Amino acid sequence: MGRPSGPVTTSGRADTLSERQDGGSRGHKHNHLTGEVETGIMTRRQQVARPFVESTHPSQKGRHLPSCLEISQPDHERGRCPQFVVIVHHFPGSVKQYAEAVPFPGRSFTVPDTCPDCQARSYLIRWGTYARWARTGVVDYRILVQRVRCKACGRTHSLLPDFLHPHRHYVIHLLQHVVSLYLIAGLGWERLMNRLPNPGPDVSTVREWVASFAYGAGHLLLDFLIHRLLALDPLVELPDSGAPSHLDRVPDPLRHSRLERAYHFWLLAEQLYAQLKARAPHLHLDADQLLPFLLHWLQSLALPPRLFWNPALSTTPSAAF
Ligand SMILES: [Zn+2]
Repeated sequence: MGRPSGPVTTSGRADTLSERQDGGSRGHKHNHLTGEVETGIMTRRQQVARPFVESTHPSQKGRHLPSCLEISQPDHERGRCPQFVVIVHHFPGSVKQYAEAVPFPGRSFTVPDTCPDCQARSYLIRWGTYARWARTGVVDYRILVQRVRCKACGRTHSLLPDFLHPHRHYVIHLLQHVVSLYLIAGLGWERLMNRLPNPGPDVSTVREWVASFAYGAGHLLLDFLIHRLLALDPLVELPDSGAPSHLDRVPDPLRHSRLERAYHFWLLAEQLYAQLKARAPHLHLDADQLLPFLLHWLQSLALPPRLFWNPALSTTPSAAF
């Protein structure tokens, strides 16, 4: 059954991250996911997304992330790219492997050809590193992140491994696990917390993740996802709307509505994966890679990674789009 997952993108500022990303350049390309030849402007993101996924790591047997998620971007969506902070790169190993490898794996991440800001080509150079946390719920790893700098515009960007969401210290696998338990499996907070690793995040953090996902995925991204699904296949059968009964425990109408939309987002995201996989059979992602997949997908469309969105947090940008 295919739950997807894969790559991720990021935007906004997170943690100590302070890069930006978006962009475009002109070119013709073959869309490996739709089988169509596309021409015209490629967003900066599409450009930078390209190198991210080559899973050859021995620990990744059977996992094949897309070599690129190149998807055309409708004209009306071009030019509204936000200021992205981070370029997400696929890393096929574990957090531990990333943290302990010498030299650190980000050192070998491909430097994008095109600057996400000014679109200058071949002007990006490696520009030092910075450290940040990657928390698994069991171990807190301090990892190094590669910076790159554009010699044309002077801006710096970072190449973030895709086991992290740009706005969160905890690894994205744990974020996905929590959302899945609450939204799909229907667990209440107490049972949900019992399923998490020790010491793990506290319940207030976990609740905030669910609320942020409801807002980001359910409120901000659901309509866009539907639009893209219909663009891929106008005859696609969308799941019935309606909230699962376990969401009845949420009395607040606004919260309930967002959770319901987030629930549908999740189902449709799985459908998106199935659609893309049908066009690119080499695409194979494990069930726990749904959110990374979506991050890379958003990145390929030059959209920010609004999967978890909480305007109240200082680690997320103030503007949604
Ligand atoms: Zn530049």
